[in-house]
Amino acid sequence: MDLVVLGCSGSGPGPRSPGSGYLLRIGDRAMLLDLGNGALGALHRYLDPFRLDALWLSHLHPDHCSDVSSLVVYRRYHPYPPYPPCSRPLPVYAPPEAPERLRAQYAASARERAVEDLSDVLEFRPVSDHWASESLGAALRARRGVHPCESFALRVEHGGRSLVYSGDTAACDSLVELARGADVLLCEATWPHEAPGGGPQPVGVHLSGREAGEHAAAAGVGRLLLTHIPCWYDADDLLAEAKEAYDGPVDVVAPGAVYRI
Ligand SMILES: [Zn+2]
Ligand SMILES: [Zn+2]
Repeated sequence: MDLVVLGCSGSGPGPRSPGSGYLLRIGDRAMLLDLGNGALGALHRYLDPFRLDALWLSHLHPDHCSDVSSLVVYRRYHPYPPYPPCSRPLPVYAPPEAPERLRAQYAASARERAVEDLSDVLEFRPVSDHWASESLGAALRARRGVHPCESFALRVEHGGRSLVYSGDTAACDSLVELARGADVLLCEATWPHEAPGGGPQPVGVHLSGREAGEHAAAAGVGRLLLTHIPCWYDADDLLAEAKEAYDGPVDVVAPGAVYRI
């Protein structure tokens, strides 16, 4: 598998990166992990969005799904599609609220929302805790994380290799269980362990750099990739925290980086 970082800026796009989006090549198949602000534009550099085989949405915060509206426009109105889009709606693995949430995001008025459902170009497949599927020639598994809205981590296994993507989550056993023994953990690290000015960070929202390292160590993963760092924090600080807790290889991802899993 190959993981291409399209966007990795936490909580919204920043000056150096779009919001969250990762292209995962699984053999000759292509799966997109999240589609945050600006990630669709970056995807075009690597793959015609018509060539996607599936979209995974970890959760429905805008920095992970705001470009879905643009993807709908692309698939619905492109004048020269390589195949009739309505004949092959794109599978979208996402929390159960995705159809309602993305319809509201796409349709600007109550009149439009009354008739819009996106099902001509997207095929929603709801994810739940302990969800599992054999798709795209890979074994997919999900666990629910801890976040203000329902958010899922994903494990992808193919050809004897494994990747786990945390989505957005606070500290939780489910991520450690899902990531157990994985070759690579792509893990959010949104803030320093101690809040600026001192004291703890908000409970139940995100991981610190230290917590990302602790989860990687507890799961015994082979490599840790830190992501979802907002533009207002110094990535080097969060990297240093993670390295104190995890003695394996750790990197901070950047747009355009490609990782062989
Ligand atoms: Zn986020
Ligand atoms: Zn979020």
